[in-house]
Amino acid sequence: MTTTEPEIVEMPQLAVQWTRIRGRLQTEVGEVEYRTWLRQMNLVGLDGDEITVALPTRFLRDWVSTRYGDRLRAMWQSENPSIRRVDIRVGSATAQPAPLAESVAVPREIAKETIRETTHETIREPIALARPAMAAAANGWQDERVEPRSDLAAPLDPRFTFEGFVVGKPNEFAYACARRVAERPASPGFNPLFLYGGVGLGKTHLMHAIAWELTDQTVIPVSVAYMSAEKFMYRFIAAIRSQSTMEFKENLRSVDVLMIDDLQFLIGKDNTQEEFFHTFNYLVEQGKQIVVSADKSPSDLNGLEHRLRTRLGCGMVADLHSTTYELRISILEAKAARAGVDVPGKVLEFLAHKITSNVRELEGALNRLVAHANLFSRPVTLETTHEVLHDILKAHDRRVTIEEIQKKVAEHYSIRLTDMSSARRARAVARPRQVAMYLAKQLTSRSLPEIGRKFGNRDHTTVMHAVSRVTELMERDGTFAEDVELLRRLLESQ
Ligand code: ADP
Ligand code: MG
Repeated sequence: MTTTEPEIVEMPQLAVQWTRIRGRLQTEVGEVEYRTWLRQMNLVGLDGDEITVALPTRFLRDWVSTRYGDRLRAMWQSENPSIRRVDIRVGSATAQPAPLAESVAVPREIAKETIRETTHETIREPIALARPAMAAAANGWQDERVEPRSDLAAPLDPRFTFEGFVVGKPNEFAYACARRVAERPASPGFNPLFLYGGVGLGKTHLMHAIAWELTDQTVIPVSVAYMSAEKFMYRFIAAIRSQSTMEFKENLRSVDVLMIDDLQFLIGKDNTQEEFFHTFNYLVEQGKQIVVSADKSPSDLNGLEHRLRTRLGCGMVADLHSTTYELRISILEAKAARAGVDVPGKVLEFLAHKITSNVRELEGALNRLVAHANLFSRPVTLETTHEVLHDILKAHDRRVTIEEIQKKVAEHYSIRLTDMSSARRARAVARPRQVAMYLAKQLTSRSLPEIGRKFGNRDHTTVMHAVSRVTELMERDGTFAEDVELLRRLLESQ
C-alpha cells in the first residue's frame, strides 16, 4: 500500500534513530556547520523504504540535499537497513520528535512559558497560578472566583506530576495522601498535609503534583499558591519594607490551597513563623487546604514554635522513606523509558546498587548517561557508564577494596591469595584472577592501570581483556554468570 503523503511516524524507535543520526551529524560536521544548515531539519515520516525529512526553505533544502544527501542516506541505512531512499523536501514536519535529552521530561504546555523565564530555585518574581478546578464544590468554593495572583505563587515544574511519580513501598503512603488531597482538598483528617523526608526523596515533586492536579481541572476556579518557606520569608520582609504587609496578608489569605515547601527554613526566623502561624490558622478556619513539607516530622522540628508544631501535626503526617533497591530500579526503568533510550538492565542494576543516596542523584546520573548516548550516538553499556559517571561513582563508591575482592574470589575458587598477583597462567588460577579483575572494575572506581598494578603489575590491556573475557563468558555460560553475580553480591553486602 502506498500513499502520497508519508505516514506520520509515531514509532519511538524511529525517533530514537533520528536523534542518533542528528547527534552523529553534529559530531561529524561540527557545531557551527550543523547549526547553520542542519539544525532546522525535521523528521516527517517513513513510507515503505523512503524516509522524509523537511527543511523550512527551498534554499536550505537544496543545500542540504547536495552536500549531505548521501551521508544522510548512509546514516539512515546503518540505523535501519530497510530504508533505501531519503526524500528531502521543503516544509514543516508533521511529526517532530523531540530531542531525547529533553524528553526525559514530558513538559506540559502551560508550564513551558513560565519555566522558560524562571525556575523555582531562583528568586525572581514568582508567577500566577489560579486556574479552574472542580474539586472544591463540597467546600463551597464555587462563589469565590479568585483572580490570578501575580504576586504569590512560584512556578511549577512540568515534570513533577502524579503520572511522573514512581510509587513503591517507601513512598506509597505519602503518595496516597497527596492524591487524596488533590482529589478532595481540605477534607477532615487531611488538613494540613505534612510531608517529610530526607533530601531528594520527592517532597517537592508531590507538592507540585497536587498543584498541577488542582489547577488542571476546568470547572471551578481554585487558586493554589506554592512557594518555598524561604520565598515566603523574603516576600514577608519585602512587604514590611514597602509597608504593604496588609496587602501581603490579604493576598495570602485569599488562596484556596497554600503550600509551603521546606518549612525547616523558618527555624529561628521568629517573626516569619508568627506570620505563617496566623495565616495558617486563618486558612484552616476558612476550610482551605494547607500542604507543608519539611526534612523532619513536626515533633522533631526543634526550634519551631511549639504551638506551630502542634498545629502542623494535627492533620495528616506522611513521611517519605529512603528508597529501596526495588524502587530505585523502578524509577530508573520509568525514566529511561521516558527518555526513549535503551538502557540495559545490567546498567540499571548497577546504578541502583551504587547510587543509593536519593532519587535526585539517581536521576542526575541517568540523565547524564542519556545525554551522552544521544550526543555521541553510542549505546549505553556498563563500560560507557563507568566512563561517563566516573566522578559520581567515585563519590558513591561503596569502598569495596581490590584487596577484599581478591580475597573473596580466591576463597571462592580455592586458590591462594598470592596467585592473584603471581605470574602463573594455568587456567585454574588465571580464570579466577580475571574474575577478580572484572569485579574490581565493576565495584570500584579504580582505573584499568590502577587495577593492573594491584594484580602483580599487569598492564591495563590485560585488565581490559579480562573484563571482556568475563563478560563474554557470562553471556555464554549461565552457571559461570551466577557464580560471578553471587560474588558481586557478597562483596557489595559486606
Ligand atoms: P525533595 O523535595 O524531597 O528534596 P524532589 O521532589 O525535588 O525531592 O525530588 C528530587 C528529584 O527526584 C526530582 O527530579 C523528582 O522528580 C525525582 N523523584 C523523587 N522521587 C521520585 C519518584 N518516586 N518517582 C519519580 N521521580 C522522583
Ligand atoms: Mg524539595
